[in-house]
Amino acid sequence: MKYSVDKNGFYGDFGGAFIPELLYPNVKELEDNYIDILESEEFITEYKGLLKDYVGRPSPLYLAKRLSAKYGGNIYLKREDLNHTGAHKINNTVGQILLAKKLGKKRIIAETGAGQHGVATATVCALMDLECIVYMGEIDIERQAPNVARMKMLGAEVRPATSGSKTLKDATNEAIRDWINNPLDTYYLIGSVVGPHPYPDLVTRLQSVISEEMKKQLKEKTGKENPDKIIACVGGGSNAAGAFYHFLEDDDVELIAVEAAGMGVDTGETAATTKMGTPGIIHGSKTLLMQDEFGQITEPYSISAGLDYPGVGPLHAHLFKTKRGRFLNATDREALEAARELTLLEGIIPALESAHALAVLSKIEINDSDTIVVNLSGRGDKDMDTFQRELGY
Ligand SMILES: *Cc1c(COP(=O)(O)O)cnc(C)c1O
Repeated sequence: MKYSVDKNGFYGDFGGAFIPELLYPNVKELEDNYIDILESEEFITEYKGLLKDYVGRPSPLYLAKRLSAKYGGNIYLKREDLNHTGAHKINNTVGQILLAKKLGKKRIIAETGAGQHGVATATVCALMDLECIVYMGEIDIERQAPNVARMKMLGAEVRPATSGSKTLKDATNEAIRDWINNPLDTYYLIGSVVGPHPYPDLVTRLQSVISEEMKKQLKEKTGKENPDKIIACVGGGSNAAGAFYHFLEDDDVELIAVEAAGMGVDTGETAATTKMGTPGIIHGSKTLLMQDEFGQITEPYSISAGLDYPGVGPLHAHLFKTKRGRFLNATDREALEAARELTLLEGIIPALESAHALAVLSKIEINDSDTIVVNLSGRGDKDMDTFQRELGY
């Protein structure tokens, strides 16, 4: 398996667990137990049950006829936007909360940037009656007031990170500090395929339900399990990892990852990590990240809060390096126009993140016989303020 994590937690050159010694016991406990728990019958039954009845899976695979007429081929949308809480993130938090319970943990901590992962975490903590503390940069708390209110309504405590740039990386530092101080009863619930091993593999496995369903649904609808192309946006990379997972070894499927170019990859206002990044260590993992000559992480920029991350998960760094994945990008403006277009053609308002994936349909070659799946990672309700401001509604 060329694209699976090895026993040391690496995907080729990337991954691993670069953590302070004080965190070692926590990470080791997780590493020693996660596969056995994930593969146990009890876990599988509970996880699949919640995905079906609570999240609303399987999410539909929808043939977008008018979008296909415009770009050619048969373009299907994997409708993660129809999940409970409006995006793919819930697939992961439902799985990790069950894992935390099996490990006997009583207290859940998380960090969040835009607040989407915080909401998905607070949701499952309410469901399972577990204490929930979400670290969030002070600036992000101001920028993302509706999600802060949601987390509070769900019973979570939102703790501001007041150091540094007061954004996501500072919230991450606070969460790690908390975990070091509370090693026994606390579970750190990470929201994407990032962080020290085993988190990238854990989150990939939990999101892989997306490609598992795609295979079945494509077989039913087209007679073939494999599409010609799969397109997904990449922030940390969890929706893309989930959409790619069961196709990684199928070389006939082209995997297209789309990063946020922001104002443009050469403007300094960007989150296109594989274009602008270099190898380094972020969040306990060796991967590609945007950093200055002194190894200080540079602040990323994208209009889409979910893609505004200075790294990519180690699996994606590996897919990029080995060329198994094709990495493209879309600017703020291109994503906004793609969101408008999908809305008018199909009556679906996508999340701004997902709109980046849609925006590359105009940049790739498409044959009339092609089957293409775009992973529609989330719905656009949360982005209405931005659409109103930028598109003038
Ligand atoms: C958080 C988010 C993303 C980006 O996260 P990944 O881990 O890269 O998937 C993409 N789309 C939506 C709708 C999100 O909420």
